Amino acid sequence: MCTTDAYNPFKVAQAAIDEACQTLGLDEATHQMLRNPMKEFHFTIPVKMDDGSVKVFQGFRVQYNNSRGPNKGGIRFHPEETIDTVRALACWMTWKTSVADLPLGGGKGGVICDPKSMSEGELERLARGFMRQVAHYIGHKNDVPAPDVYTTPQIMAWMMDEYETIKGYSEPGVITGKPVGNGGSLGRGDATARGGVYITRDAAKAYGIDLKGATVAIQGFGNAGQFAATLFEELTGSKIVAVCDTKAALYNPDGLDAKDVQAYKLANGSLKGYPKAKEISQAELFALKVDVLVPAALENSITAENADSIQAKIICELANGPTTPEADKILDAKGIVVLPDFLANSGGVTVSYFESVQNEYNYYWTAEEVDKALENKMVNAFKSVYDMSVDKKCSLRKAAYLVAIKKVADAMKFRGWV
Ligand code: GLU
Repeated sequence: MCTTDAYNPFKVAQAAIDEACQTLGLDEATHQMLRNPMKEFHFTIPVKMDDGSVKVFQGFRVQYNNSRGPNKGGIRFHPEETIDTVRALACWMTWKTSVADLPLGGGKGGVICDPKSMSEGELERLARGFMRQVAHYIGHKNDVPAPDVYTTPQIMAWMMDEYETIKGYSEPGVITGKPVGNGGSLGRGDATARGGVYITRDAAKAYGIDLKGATVAIQGFGNAGQFAATLFEELTGSKIVAVCDTKAALYNPDGLDAKDVQAYKLANGSLKGYPKAKEISQAELFALKVDVLVPAALENSITAENADSIQAKIICELANGPTTPEADKILDAKGIVVLPDFLANSGGVTVSYFESVQNEYNYYWTAEEVDKALENKMVNAFKSVYDMSVDKKCSLRKAAYLVAIKKVADAMKFRGWV
């Protein structure tokens, strides 16, 4: 989940870049540009807490590479945030916008904090404090943040308000994932999950797997996991048999009613005690004989320890970096179709891009228009990666790196950087 001596997500990200650069035969300068962030901001955020004390939080914003357009990517509030995690996530955003063919670069922000133990007022002051530290280094032509783990449309609205107050003019496109009515886009809420379901649908077709009546297990019940639970059923006719959050894992072989589980979580704060399912462990959830497994929590969830127990035919990585490289090799050897994170979860940033476009025009699309445009982007993204995997006889993950990195390398070359 976080950076440890044994697991450093940025080292993992760099190793994949090294391999792709070698396959593509890229020169040393291009390779060095691709394996390092172009800019980083490290800052402190003093926040007045409800008890009258002042707590000083550590924040980061990494602008990884803007050769294809403004940096783009979310802000995470997490107690185990580290700069190397933010670097890795900013790097993956660069490949994500490239693979989805968006005219954007990659960025990510983070704050070391425990949002679950903070009041609404404390969170608002933290969000505004974050924005005060980065306001002069971001903007719709430069770097556009968005929600990520434990940040919400409400937090985006506070940040936009702080930015506009500092600048003295309206610029809703400074941030995406805003509430609808504050410049947010219809269809942004479920976009990550929806995009992942479209990619899974097309992958299932390509590999001859029938999703009608197929079983799905979802690890993580945040934004992506909750919407995936409803959309898999709605768009593919498959059935959700298992879900989990940090407190409990639930299993019902006859199928779970996703809306009912969601309502329970909202009312009770967690899945613990949900009556219409059997409680199992997270390890048991990973090992279920299901057709589709959806890691939708944090990085480093599928490791060398549990990869061998996985029996799914398809893994749809809605989380960023859920699978370690060692686990990836095991899954590959087992013949499991792994839909790599920066392809599978690129629906979120795709609709964020549509949100920026709507902000620029100050004209808003219908939900149907957004969903249709998202589907087109996802169909094309999967096709480009699948075709590359056939051409190079490699995994979809390797193919996704090749597609994404080639486009960023070309953009840097045309700019005359390398
Ligand atoms: N945080 C999301 C991601 O990792 C969305 C980023 C965005 O919308 O800019 O893809």
